[in-house]
Amino acid sequence: MKKVLIIHTGGTISMKEDKNTGEVSPATEHPLYEVVPSLAEFAKIKDEVLFHIPSPHMTPKNMLQLGSRIHEQLATEDYDGIVVTHGTDTLEETAYFLDLYLQTRKPVIVTGAMRSINEIGSDGLYNLITSVRVACSEEAKDKGVLVVMNDEIHTAQNVTKTSTSNVATFQSPQYGPIGMVTKRGVFFHHTLTKHESYPIQTITTHVALLKTYAGMDHTILEAIRQTNIDGLVIEALGQGNIPPALVQPLREIVNAGIPVVLVSRCYQGIVQDIYSYDGGGKQLKDMGVIFSNGLTGPKARIKLMLSLELTRNPHDLVAMFA
Ligand code: ASP
Repeated sequence: MKKVLIIHTGGTISMKEDKNTGEVSPATEHPLYEVVPSLAEFAKIKDEVLFHIPSPHMTPKNMLQLGSRIHEQLATEDYDGIVVTHGTDTLEETAYFLDLYLQTRKPVIVTGAMRSINEIGSDGLYNLITSVRVACSEEAKDKGVLVVMNDEIHTAQNVTKTSTSNVATFQSPQYGPIGMVTKRGVFFHHTLTKHESYPIQTITTHVALLKTYAGMDHTILEAIRQTNIDGLVIEALGQGNIPPALVQPLREIVNAGIPVVLVSRCYQGIVQDIYSYDGGGKQLKDMGVIFSNGLTGPKARIKLMLSLELTRNPHDLVAMFA
C-alpha cells in the first residue's frame, strides 16, 4: 500500500459551522483528525497540523516553512506523495509557491473545501480522499504541484479560484484541468511542457501588486514607491497597456532599478508589446518593464519574490518570466 503524508494548514476544510448563527470558524480540535482513519482503505496515512489558520492569514514565510517541511519529510520518510490541506482564498498562491520551490518528482497535491466539515454537502472529506488517490497515482509524478478539487486535477501554475462560494470554484481558464478523478480511477489527459525550480533559502523581499483601471492617476503608484518595494507587479489593461498618468512614475521606478513585471487583468491571454501609444505595451517594454507569460497578478508576485531571492540581474529576470 502507498504511503501518503497529509499536512494540514487550515482553511474551511478544517473549520466547523455554528448551527445557530451560521458562522464558520476554526474548530479547537482539528476536525480532520476524526476523518483521517477513514482514509486507511486508500493509503497508509500519516498526518500533521503545521498551521491552523484561515488562508487570508497565510504569508510567503509560511509557504517557505511548508515547503521546507515537505522537503524534510520526503528526505526522512519514504512517502509516495504529499497532500496539503489549505484554505481556498490563497490556495493558488501557496500551490504555485510550492510548485516553484519544491524539488521532487513525487506527487504533491493541494486541496481545500468550500463548505466546512459539518455543513450539508461538505466537500472537505471528499476532496481529501480524492487528493490522496491522486497522490497515490503513478501518473501524477513529474507534473509539479497539483490542485485537486471537485473531481478535477489542475496545475498550480494555471489554476485560480473563480467563484466565491460554488464548489466548482477552481478552474484553469486558459487551459482547463489536466486530469479528472472518477469512482474508477485517476485520469490525466494533458502533461506539463515546462517545469521551473527556484531553490531559495529565505523569502525576504517586499513585492507589491497593483491593478490598473480606467482614469487611474499617478498617486497610488507614487505612494507604493514610498513603501520601499523590491519589486512591483502591475495588472495592466488588455494586452499590457496602462493609463498614461502612470507612465512617468513607472519610468522612475524602473530607472531606480526596481524590477516591474507586467501581467494582464484579463483572465486569459498573454501580455505583448503591441500598442505604441502613450502607456501602450511597446512603450513599457522599451522602458524595461518585464512581460510575463499568462500568470495572474498574485502568482507573478510570488514568482518575482522567489526570483529576487536568486538574482537581481534584469536579463535573468526577463528570461525567468519569458
Ligand atoms: N476563507 C477561507 C480560507 O481561505 C475559505 C476556504 O477555505 O474555502 O481560509
